[in-house]
Amino acid sequence: MMAASAPAQNIPPPPGPISIDEVAALPAISRTLPSMASSKVSPPTHFFWDRENLLLFAGVGVMRTLDYTSTHNMLRRGREELLIPDDVVKNDAGFAALEAASSVASIGVSYIFHHFRHHTMERWVSIVHISVAGFGAAHNYALKTKR
Ligand SMILES: [Zn+2]
Repeated sequence: MMAASAPAQNIPPPPGPISIDEVAALPAISRTLPSMASSKVSPPTHFFWDRENLLLFAGVGVMRTLDYTSTHNMLRRGREELLIPDDVVKNDAGFAALEAASSVASIGVSYIFHHFRHHTMERWVSIVHISVAGFGAAHNYALKTKR
């Protein structure tokens, strides 16, 4: 019966402010912890949707759009898409959805790199995507008309 009220008597009074002398008396390890923690902190990070990423993602979107238009241009001129099945490419909504999905996938991969603090790789995903898609679009437009 006395167990219910006993613990309340064992609670120590709340600690008051710690004086500098008390801090100096603490073991050395607890005084070195903050400096150890700060030496492990990586360089300042950035918001995922920062200006650079927004520009890169816009670039990816532009290149996917150019891929879409250049592929249709090439098909109208009697050439064939080699990488994607015809029934996908000739379905306007389906092909547009595929272009949008590849943009979203690219941003997703960037986000994974950002999450794991590989901020350089995060940017390179978009840079490589823009380069490859840009090359592909230029190639499509450069193909000779077959008809
Ligand atoms: Zn990042």
